[in-house]
Amino acid sequence: MSIADVADHEVEEVAWDLDPLLEGDPSDPAAAVDAMLAEAQTRADAFAERYAGRVGELDGPGLAEAMRELGDLQEIVGRAGSFSGLYFSTDTTDPVRGALFQRVQEKATPIETKLLFFELEWAAVEDARADELLATERSGDEASGRGSGLDFCRHHLRTARRYRPHLLSEPEEKILAEKSLTSRNAWGRLFEEQVAALEVTLEEGAEPVSLEVALSRLHSSDRADRANAAACVTAALEPGLRTRGFVFNTLLADKMVDDRLRGYPHWLASRNLANEASDESVEALVTAVRNRYELPRRWYRLKAQLLGLDRLKDYDRMAAVTDENPVVHWREARELVQDSYSNFSPVLGDLVHRFLTEPWIDAPVRPGKRAGAFCAYTVPSVHPYVMLNWTSRRRDVLTLAHELGHGVHAALGGRQGIYHMATPLTLAETASVFGETIVFGRLLEHAETPESRLSLLAESIEGSIATVFRQIAMNQFEHRMHTERRETGELALDRIGELWAHSQEELLGDAVEVTDDYRSWWSYVHHFVSVPGYVYAYAYGQLLALAVYARYEEEGEGFVPAYLELLGAGGSRSPEELGAIVGIDLADPGFWDRGLALVERQLDAAEQAAHEAGRL
Ligand SMILES: [Zn+2]
Repeated sequence: MSIADVADHEVEEVAWDLDPLLEGDPSDPAAAVDAMLAEAQTRADAFAERYAGRVGELDGPGLAEAMRELGDLQEIVGRAGSFSGLYFSTDTTDPVRGALFQRVQEKATPIETKLLFFELEWAAVEDARADELLATERSGDEASGRGSGLDFCRHHLRTARRYRPHLLSEPEEKILAEKSLTSRNAWGRLFEEQVAALEVTLEEGAEPVSLEVALSRLHSSDRADRANAAACVTAALEPGLRTRGFVFNTLLADKMVDDRLRGYPHWLASRNLANEASDESVEALVTAVRNRYELPRRWYRLKAQLLGLDRLKDYDRMAAVTDENPVVHWREARELVQDSYSNFSPVLGDLVHRFLTEPWIDAPVRPGKRAGAFCAYTVPSVHPYVMLNWTSRRRDVLTLAHELGHGVHAALGGRQGIYHMATPLTLAETASVFGETIVFGRLLEHAETPESRLSLLAESIEGSIATVFRQIAMNQFEHRMHTERRETGELALDRIGELWAHSQEELLGDAVEVTDDYRSWWSYVHHFVSVPGYVYAYAYGQLLALAVYARYEEEGEGFVPAYLELLGAGGSRSPEELGAIVGIDLADPGFWDRGLALVERQLDAAEQAAHEAGRL
């Protein structure tokens, strides 16, 4: 079907209005942004003048006053930054927008640098004194709402101190920071440049394509196509493999040294700290997912049958199972999503209504517009914005539901103010995945044929495998790499390939044959070298969100108030405390199983749909 067949005129009108982000005359955005940043710079200078070197001397009300001023400053910078970023994203080819975006970054950096002293001095305050200050309550004589209590920033101040036990002396920190440009960062950049330069020749004599394009061929319904793409990717990964292996080894050693100097007890400890995730909850997650590796295997066995194969090979995993791809018009999607949210909760329904009727969303595909979809939280004094690239496909409906989930979370959490509006990374996908799951249920109900249900379920199951199971397998690969580097020294290239293959075989069991060609495919994943330990966060966020949904299924209507409280709490509490609001204990492996049980149910449904469609 051609694009002309899917003409969806209503969506063309769905554009956002960014004026509310600006202070001053919106007809000259650049001047308005410049004026805002100039004001922020002046106030930052005054702030530093007043507080630098004195943070340790502040009393409770004094600390609250400083935090208010700092928050107001961040609001101004946040508005300017949000405006320039969003303005740029809908037309990245406009040099005026590009220049403004760049200028805001250049002007915001000195403001941030100017204010950096505050967090450093705050982290240096002795524990006992900090606890005393954090206990400051609002004094009775102030009823203005801008009282002296620290509620609006307490959690933020507390978490800002969590690195304290791992900080070195100031001169040591300074040397590490300065030298990191030519050490860790340089290695990371070398790796990225090597990967970005990879070219894959898919046919003899043809123009080479990027790695991304070659990998997208793995979705092909033709097995010969997939096998060829995989072989060509392996060939393209070969040159430079030794160099990328050396970079990986070097960064493993660099992290080992860092962790030793900073007193981190294990390779993942600093990442868990950054994620505000306890070691116990991460271990519980990894154990729970590894115990259910049978789920992806079951899907791949079913998929082999659907594709008419005895057994999948690694390059068959992404193959399309149906060519079903129905058109959904904007109006239809809007009604479905609105209805799903309103049915769940009128409060969320009202918020979604505002997104869909006020100029908060930019939906159509336009030349020069940024790819993908996102929700920008912006600042508490304005409202969130959502960007889409609407192509009238069923996938787009789920994306709309997903981004509106972020949107309602941002709008409700925004009431906590600038310090507490955003959740820690591990909870950032809760409302988005929740909203997507509700709408997915509706789409499934509306699907008219078993074939249509099967294609929906396949997409969802493969999404879960990619986000949950694959990331945990990658975490296990990282775990073995870091541990072995620490115990036995530098790893040979063959050994890296072996550990990679092993982590995949452990995941896939007898359901998928991991070919020898696949052994070098670790070598384009930049997360492993640039952000060690990061990958489990995808699984953590996704399963947490599904477990929250499972709580809703158990509790029904009665769950809704707790869920709204969770969203309204934003990032004002720790992940453990936020989980407790909806009756979830993050350190309990049984809780993670609840999210996994949803995946299992989808597998049952997919099997049934495949039978009904006569595909088995
Ligand atoms: Zn998201």
